[in-house]
Amino acid sequence: MNITRVAIDGPSGAGKSTLARNAARTLGYLYVDTGAIYRTIGCYAWSRRLDPKDGAVMEAALPDIHVDLSYGEDGLQRMGLNGEDVTEKIRLPEISLLASAVSAHPCVRSFLLGMQRDLARKNSVIMDGRDIGTVVLPDAEVKIFLTASPEARAKRRFLELEQRGTPAPYEQVLREIQERDWNDTHRAIAPLRQAEDAILLDTTDLDFEESRKALIHLIEERAGA
Ligand code: C5P
Repeated sequence: MNITRVAIDGPSGAGKSTLARNAARTLGYLYVDTGAIYRTIGCYAWSRRLDPKDGAVMEAALPDIHVDLSYGEDGLQRMGLNGEDVTEKIRLPEISLLASAVSAHPCVRSFLLGMQRDLARKNSVIMDGRDIGTVVLPDAEVKIFLTASPEARAKRRFLELEQRGTPAPYEQVLREIQERDWNDTHRAIAPLRQAEDAILLDTTDLDFEESRKALIHLIEERAGA
């Protein structure tokens, strides 16, 4: 069986998850949202009131954390944390910064590495995150760096939060996006950066349908090559 691995990296709010999930459904690949895995660790820190910035505290907690990634009947990824389904909880806005903080620790990243690689060993995948093309799947057949300007990303996140019934002021959303960008690009381990062999897809001036078509076109072109 031929396995194709598509790595999609990029900053928060670039539309990676929605676009990658959609492309995976169209192309018949398994979609893996690795941000959800880091959010699950962030959720643990939140529920136990641990300081997510303290690497020693997080390292000591890891043996007590059991992360489970599964797929529901609807085909959507679900996250389990020590037996509890946290799929919805991890989307709370306060979990975003916690996820970003816990993901800066090498112990957390190596704790989750095997799980991510295993998924791509058995299935053709579209996996999205920050370090998929650079660290998790450096030999992926297709690598895409999906981005948009911070303002365009903040506007999209703002509308999404409003639709979800958890609105937040635009300025705050933009500030959080900038803070996460800074954290993700400045951490010592696996910082967010475009892999040398990744194709850049900038969706600042594209609507969803245009972005979707551009992404599928890139994958088909590269995977078929
Ligand atoms: O993609 P999402 O915004 O859900 O990810 C939450 C946080 O998890 C990000 O801000 C980032 O710090 C971290 N993350 C990571 N590496 C990944 C995926 C997510 O560090 N592969």
